[in-house]
Formats: sequence, structure tokens, C-alpha cells
Amino acid sequence: MKNALYPSRIELSKSSFEKNVSFLQDYVGKDVVFSSVIKGNAYGHGIEDFVPMAEECGVRHFSVFSSDEARKACRAKNYEETHVMIMGMINNGALGWAIENDVSFFVFELNRLKAAIEEADRIGKQARIHLHLETGMNRLGLEEHKFEEAVSLIKKYRQHLQLDGICTHYAGAESVGNYVRIQEQIENFEEYCDWFEERDINPKHRHTACSASALNYPETIMDLVRIGISQYGFWPNRETYMNFVKRYPDVQAKHKDPLERVLTWKSQIMSTKKVPAGEFVGYGNTYLTSRDQEIASIPIGYSHGFGRNLTNVGIVLVKGERAPVAGLVNMNLLTIDITDIPEVSKGDEVVIIGKQGDQEMTVASFSEMRNFMNYEVLVQIPSSIPRFVVK
Ligand SMILES: *Cc1c(COP(=O)(O)O)cnc(C)c1O
Repeated sequence: MKNALYPSRIELSKSSFEKNVSFLQDYVGKDVVFSSVIKGNAYGHGIEDFVPMAEECGVRHFSVFSSDEARKACRAKNYEETHVMIMGMINNGALGWAIENDVSFFVFELNRLKAAIEEADRIGKQARIHLHLETGMNRLGLEEHKFEEAVSLIKKYRQHLQLDGICTHYAGAESVGNYVRIQEQIENFEEYCDWFEERDINPKHRHTACSASALNYPETIMDLVRIGISQYGFWPNRETYMNFVKRYPDVQAKHKDPLERVLTWKSQIMSTKKVPAGEFVGYGNTYLTSRDQEIASIPIGYSHGFGRNLTNVGIVLVKGERAPVAGLVNMNLLTIDITDIPEVSKGDEVVIIGKQGDQEMTVASFSEMRNFMNYEVLVQIPSSIPRFVVK
């Protein structure tokens, strides 16, 4: 029923995700906590369906950006011991909720630290915090001149705090152009950690690595990693992939990308019709038939994240073949040329992103700019499209 109701669906491949996690866990080391980053609606994969699937594959730690995402993750999880960590936004008014629900959060301002202590005192339960240090990204992060005060607050109110982590985030570890800046950040972090340790502040985990830094700078792995894009089967960028296969020639020798895409976006042929030569298709005059053609409609449009800029440019897969968009992309509908694809009929599967037969529509090719901003394309897939976990 859920399937029949909707014009399109997202399938999440559990076996692909399992392979990605096992590859990444082997790479970072068996004892390193794998925190699955699920901000941005799990990079478009859908928090509600992704979290239970990841749990079935052994994941017990999730990172979100904000408290609303944390609440979604808490509702979606099935295991008591599964932990949710907020890396970014939480209003002081929601700290109580986080504490009550054992959700940990980054602390990068003394204001939040004080508010957390107050809330923990009020509730009678420890706040689980991660000290997020400024090391050179200059975005969020507690600055060095505030460390002293943080330490005295932590010591004074120790009974209200559980120090889950000390952490930072790198400013562009996917690109060698940022090498010097990242090195400085790594050095700063090491130095700061020692400083805190000397003052008897010993958080449970040190964590700094996202996908790119874990893959490009193994020394950033430490004892917990926050892995987003690569668990979904994407390299942060081509440079990171090239860099990786250079370091691990056996990966290259296998001629197979160790990461597999988890997400496939599918729809169906809604209707087909024959259009004689010399006719315009759809609104206006952007597409003129050059011969007798067969046109198919697909119930996907720009309201579903299929951009209007893909008019006469986009491609979808039908019967394992590439079918070009013919005419304007509408709000809920697009038309494709199927003249050269034999025997297409109503109800046939259409793949927007993912594989069909030997063909694949990658997220990068789906986006107009081909510069590997997979992140941006993925998160724009609407949350209203139903997700299904498949083998
Ligand atoms: C998004 C994010 C990550 C994960 O980044 P990926 O490149 O997707 O692996 C890790 N840490 C923080 C603080 C983030 O915001």
C-alpha cells in the first residue's frame, strides 16, 4: 500500500550499507567507535528508516546536527544502548530534553556549559557533553582563552557532567590545498588535549575525524569517528579516492570501489503516447519532435527535487537504457523520449538515481554541476518520498 500510494520511492540497500560499514570499520580499526552521521535527514536517506537499518548492521552511535534531528533519531532507534550525539544546534531550552534522553551534545560556548550544568542540577541527572575546541576552522569551537574558565566550571560541577568527548572539526580535509591548515589543526588539538589532561580533564573519547579526514589523515581517527558521506557509499571527492587507492594499491587492483551506493530513487512510467514529427512537447516550445516519437510521462518534477534546470538535459533509466528528458521539467511531472527504447509500457520502473541493468545514474551526473557536491544533491531529495529498506 505504502508503495502504491506514492509516485516514487527511495530504496535503501542494507547489504551495500553493511559492506560500507564493514570496510570503514576495518579501516579505522575494530576498537574505534563508528558514529554514523545522519544530519540532513541522513543525507537524504531518511532518518526514520535509515537508523533502524544501521542498527541492524551493528551501528550504535549516531551524530546529528540539531536537537530536532536528535529527537527523530531517538524515536527511530530500536536499541536501548544506541546513543545519539548533537554536533551543532540545540537551544538552551532543549538541553533538559537532551539530558533526560541521554543525548550528548557539543559544548563550544561557556553559556551552553553553564546552562547544561543548571539543567542537569534541576533534573538531577548528568549532562553528557563533548568539549568542542576551536583549532583553526573559526566557525564553532571553544577558543583557547576560555579553556581556563571551562575547566574550573567542569571541576566545580563535576557531579552534573559526564565528559563524553573532546573534539574538533577540520576545515576541508578532502583537499590537499588545505594541507597546512589541517596539519595546524591536528597539532593544536593534540596540544590542547594534553593541556586539559594536565588539568585532570579526561573525556571518554577524543574525536575529530569526518570521512575525508579519516581517509586522508589516518592520525585523525583517534577513538571515535564521525562518518557521514562515505557510509552512504560516496567518496567525499575524487581527490580523496585517488589518494586512497594510491595508499592501498590492493583496492585499486581489485578494480572495484569498496564503497557501494546505498540509495536508489525509483519511479514508474505513468503514461506513454506517440507524437508525430514537428510537434512541441509539454509547456511552451522548448522541445520539438524531429521525427515520429514516443514520449513517456514520469510523476516526478521540481517539487521532488528534480530541478527545472534538467529540462532537456536530464537523463533517467528505463529498461536498462538511458532516456533523455524531453521538454520542460514541471512541478510534479517530466516527459522523456523513449522512441529508441523498445516495448516501454505504463508501470515500468524508472530509475532517477541509482543502477538499472548495466547503467547507473550517479548523484553527480544527476546534479548539473559535475563537481561532486554529492552532499547537496542528496539532502534535497524530499523527506516526503517513502523509503524502503531492501536487501
Ligand atoms: C557533517 C559532519 C561530519 C561528517 O562529515 P562527512 O564528510 O559526511 O563524513 C563530521 N563531523 C561534523 C562536525 C560534521 O558536521
